[in-house]
Amino acid sequence: MELVRWYEHQQRDLPWRHTKDPYLIWLSEIILQQTRIRQGLPYYNRFIEAFPNVFALAQATEEQVLRLWQGLGYYSRARNLHACAHTISKDFQGEFPKTAKELLKLKGIGPYTAAAIASFAFDEKIAVVDGNVYRVLSRVFGIQNDISDTKSQKIFQDFANHLIHTTEPATFNQAIMDFGAIHCTPKSPACGICPMHGFCYAFNENKINELPLKSKKVKTKNRYFHYFLFRYQKQVLMQKRRGKDIWQGLYQFPLMESKDAESVEKVLKRAELPQGTLVNACSDLLKHILTHQHIFARFYRIEVKDLDTFVQLQKNWKAEKQTIEALHDLPKPILIQNFLKNNVY
Ligand code: SF4
Repeated sequence: MELVRWYEHQQRDLPWRHTKDPYLIWLSEIILQQTRIRQGLPYYNRFIEAFPNVFALAQATEEQVLRLWQGLGYYSRARNLHACAHTISKDFQGEFPKTAKELLKLKGIGPYTAAAIASFAFDEKIAVVDGNVYRVLSRVFGIQNDISDTKSQKIFQDFANHLIHTTEPATFNQAIMDFGAIHCTPKSPACGICPMHGFCYAFNENKINELPLKSKKVKTKNRYFHYFLFRYQKQVLMQKRRGKDIWQGLYQFPLMESKDAESVEKVLKRAELPQGTLVNACSDLLKHILTHQHIFARFYRIEVKDLDTFVQLQKNWKAEKQTIEALHDLPKPILIQNFLKNNVY
């Protein structure tokens, strides 16, 4: 098979390829979802150093896990990873289930990750279907189903399962994913030196730019964040983010959000700062890009003159007192981490 032959010569040397340990495979798959390998690799190394097995991860606090995850985004992955480690260590005595069907029942493990663990660690004959696989299959075989439709995802999964039938599953899965990631790329596939161009539908029909078919585009939303850095002597106020939103469980400066961009004057008026506070400075509007949201943030430095006012603000903003030294160890959105890095506080 052309793909497997290609893989024998071109495969990427990645640490989790040299193991059958389901813990390491699971960790790498969760970290690398929606993340480039170059960005995810240092996180993978830090995680296995801090938590060499599933019991160590289960025993960590959520804050330790989120702190280590800081900067990777999609923080629900980290919370689910932690919850799943609890389940594996308590209910399964540290042993991962061996089939994709059983793995799918665990928190944070979807069809893709379940198939990856089952095939890489336990040699189950099940195809791993990610964005790279959709692209390769739709182009080579001319599959015209819309990949944003869940019915089509099943069609692709069945098709890939059928292909895997005659091949060693782990090798086939890694081969097709690597091929999509480094050879048959979205914008500039290397068709001229492709081992499959003789029979590739998209190449021969001149439809490379049309496949895979994807209709639904998620709209990007703009959000406007106003952070208040209340400082009293060597203490500041921090809020823990709760509720179903981005950055759940992470710490931030007290936040006020607005629907539109508001002037500094309007924001400060709405904030109703008490007497005993002094606005020392405010930052430019900083743009922070997430996959489906653009955050426009401004930071207001506010000096608090006396302890009573500080305690009142803490109550009003449902915040916690923290020392400036303790800020470093709190898990924070990278937007706040970068602000602290670039500004003397
Ligand atoms: S010929 Fe081009 S489009 Fe077809 S599989 Fe090869 S790289 Fe992809």
